[in-house]
Amino acid sequence: MTGKHRIVVLGAGYAGLAAARRFASKAPDAQITVVDRRARYVERVRLHQLAAGQRIPEWDLRELLEGKGIRFVQAWATEIDTVTERVILDGAPALEYDALVYALGSKADQAGMPGAAEHAFSVATPEDAVQLLEQAGTGRMVVVGGGATGIELAAEVAQARPDSRVLLLDSREPGAWMSPRARAHVRRALERFGVEIRSNSKVIEVSAAGVLLADGELIESAVTVWTTGFGVPDLARRSGIAVESNGRMLTDATLRSVSHPNVYAAGDSAVIGGPGDRELRMACATALPTGKYAADAVVARMRGREPRKLRFRYVFQCISLGRGDGVIQFVHADDAPGRTVLTGRTAAWFKERIVRGAGRAARP
Ligand SMILES: Cc1cc2nc3c(=O)[nH]c(=O)nc-3n(C[C@H](O)[C@H](O)[C@H](O)COP(=O)(O)OP(=O)(O)OC[C@H]3O[C@@H](n4cnc5c(N)ncnc54)[C@H](O)[C@@H]3O)c2cc1C
Repeated sequence: MTGKHRIVVLGAGYAGLAAARRFASKAPDAQITVVDRRARYVERVRLHQLAAGQRIPEWDLRELLEGKGIRFVQAWATEIDTVTERVILDGAPALEYDALVYALGSKADQAGMPGAAEHAFSVATPEDAVQLLEQAGTGRMVVVGGGATGIELAAEVAQARPDSRVLLLDSREPGAWMSPRARAHVRRALERFGVEIRSNSKVIEVSAAGVLLADGELIESAVTVWTTGFGVPDLARRSGIAVESNGRMLTDATLRSVSHPNVYAAGDSAVIGGPGDRELRMACATALPTGKYAADAVVARMRGREPRKLRFRYVFQCISLGRGDGVIQFVHADDAPGRTVLTGRTAAWFKERIVRGAGRAARP
């Protein structure tokens, strides 16, 4: 090949920005281009704060990237043409690549539940969070999903607006995957904020009136928020790249696509094997290191070396409970909960440090 190695990074979230930052330091001789549909980078792990009416940090992507010699293109990626090795963009000329890092992240997943797409809100993207904020004060908010996102949102809204009525609903206990001590703290904190908790409740339909449970009960809701999991963009699937059933790109131990050798994936939009044969979960805690690693793997092969396999371990999970409380659940390498748990102000302080550190780690 003559000329500069052309590297295209799709997505300027935690994974894409971590990859771009790494490319800028390890391969300054390459032409690096980052594509995102948004002009501004918003810290996604703070979207529950945005939905509760707080200002959260955001940066201009062009300024951030071009200051480091990385080209930024604001456009929708609509197709990856793997034959001509070009990314087709809506609103900008196509981009040719020698190596592509696919880091398009995730979005709300309301597809599997009747009525959810029409009647439920989400907190998965900045636009979703703003839309949710606009519903403030309209009546009872029912948050479906007792995972980290549902817990953080319910706590944040209830603390920010003490006169609000918030119900957190799931078929299991909020934070069911955590240790008993962590779970008990989550419940105490939510109850202190006045959040009503309903476990053992299976939703079968969402409507304008509220959520219908499997036992026939209708729980009335002015604002229903669906937080039970994330879906991913279908660009890889539509482009004929190997994906698993919900559209995440299948990767090998070096984060290379199993079907297209010059395509790599990181973050929420990739299937990545982790310790104990468990897939890595969708998390900022996964996106940052895998974005960085994907860049290392691309640069190694660009220089004619075989990269070492991804080595990954989790250390903790952090959940905020409003602005002065939280839970830090320390975990084993495979993410299974251990015995050590931090709570209260110490946990809130710890989580804020982690979130700020993640923002810094993503900024080139
Ligand atoms: C409210 C909330 C709280 C969270 N809290 C935590 C937490 O405490 N800890 C934790 O580890 N994780 C947390 N997460 C999860 C975490 O935010 C995600 O796992 C993480 O953002 C994934 O990073 P990513 O880079 O893979 O994708 P994203 O951050 O989603 O970035 C993907 C980027 O791709 C762009 N994009 C998508 N499609 C296209 C397209 N076709 N063309 C152009 N651009 C496109 C998007 O605009 C976006 O900028 C939280 C998530 C939410 C919603």
